[in-house]
Amino acid sequence: MKKLLLPLLLSLTITVSAQNAQQIHQKAILVDTHNDALSNQLITKTDLAKRQTTGNLDLVRAKEGGLDVQVFSIWCGGEYGKGRAFKFANREIDSLYALIKRNPGKITLVLNAAELQTAVAQGKFGAMIGVEGGHMIEDRMDYIDALAKRGMRYLTLTWNNSTSWATSAADETHRLDSLKRAGHVGLSDYGKQIVRHLNDLGVMVDVSHVGEQTFYDVIATTTKPVIASHSCVYSLDPNQRNMKDAQLKALAKNGGVVFVNFYSGFVDSSYMHKENKFIRAHKAELDSLEKIYHDADLAKIRLNVIHQSESDQIRPALSMLIKHIDYIVKLIGVDHVGIGSDFDGAESYPLGMDDVTDYPKITEELIKLHYSEADIDKILGGNFIRVLKANTGK
Ligand SMILES: [Zn+2]
Repeated sequence: MKKLLLPLLLSLTITVSAQNAQQIHQKAILVDTHNDALSNQLITKTDLAKRQTTGNLDLVRAKEGGLDVQVFSIWCGGEYGKGRAFKFANREIDSLYALIKRNPGKITLVLNAAELQTAVAQGKFGAMIGVEGGHMIEDRMDYIDALAKRGMRYLTLTWNNSTSWATSAADETHRLDSLKRAGHVGLSDYGKQIVRHLNDLGVMVDVSHVGEQTFYDVIATTTKPVIASHSCVYSLDPNQRNMKDAQLKALAKNGGVVFVNFYSGFVDSSYMHKENKFIRAHKAELDSLEKIYHDADLAKIRLNVIHQSESDQIRPALSMLIKHIDYIVKLIGVDHVGIGSDFDGAESYPLGMDDVTDYPKITEELIKLHYSEADIDKILGGNFIRVLKANTGK
């Protein structure tokens, strides 16, 4: 009798907690602060309003995953340079505007916390704009004004490339000596003016991708809480894109929030080594994919799909991603962490995180770790809403 009852009780408990997780998840406002679908869309021409078989996000799957608001990354590489980068950023914004215009009942542009709440209440997908890379303002304040007017609500001060006014994590890690010789590490005076201008406009300052010196200069300059829109924990995966404990503490003191990135390489310290091996084994194929897509990331994403069972073997467990969230909560508190998946921007995510329909698994994992519903609400979207409001004033 007992033998029969125990597995039955166990499976019953699991079903109840999974149902509970679904309820908590669907009730919560879920905001993701970083997705590259829009940058890809200019290349792939997919209609994000319809269910797609490729990519990580479309409006149909977003609903299934309980995703209420997405900050779309507006991005181009540093090679675009002056005369082209700002124009390209505007083309990407045009494509979001077009998507909204074609689907007014489904998706709406969100500019502040009040509008975000209204969109959720109306059952519309909230689309927000984050510009990833200071090079897209081409050193011009009036370009910041123009992008803010079109809806930019965060500016990632640098991408992997530095600007003339802020140095990136990549450059501070690999070229520190030459930066020092040029007398340019961190935020310049003009960079500080830019930070203050963003504060005045209600555009959040995003410190993902910036170097440590730039980070601390930002913290010393900003009058508003800042965000790291898609970064993880350096102590768990020592990668230049992740944040050290001292940075996390400084971010918390500032009232800011770090939104964890799902990319396997930022989650699992052994991933890069395994991926390099995988890429070496398929180098010729990757080269030809790059010729087709003219985009290194898209080519890598495609290669992983073609060799799925092989690439699955090197993906970290979902629990490793949750570890980053839990680490941040334990170090600086539950008010300073959120979700910034980097979906559609990376070639590999932890096992089980295949697209936006998989967000409920995060809630399930947090429940397993005994997180309360109130804390889960903060992590999924509450912390973002607070920091947005602190920047936009409403
Ligand atoms: Zn990025």
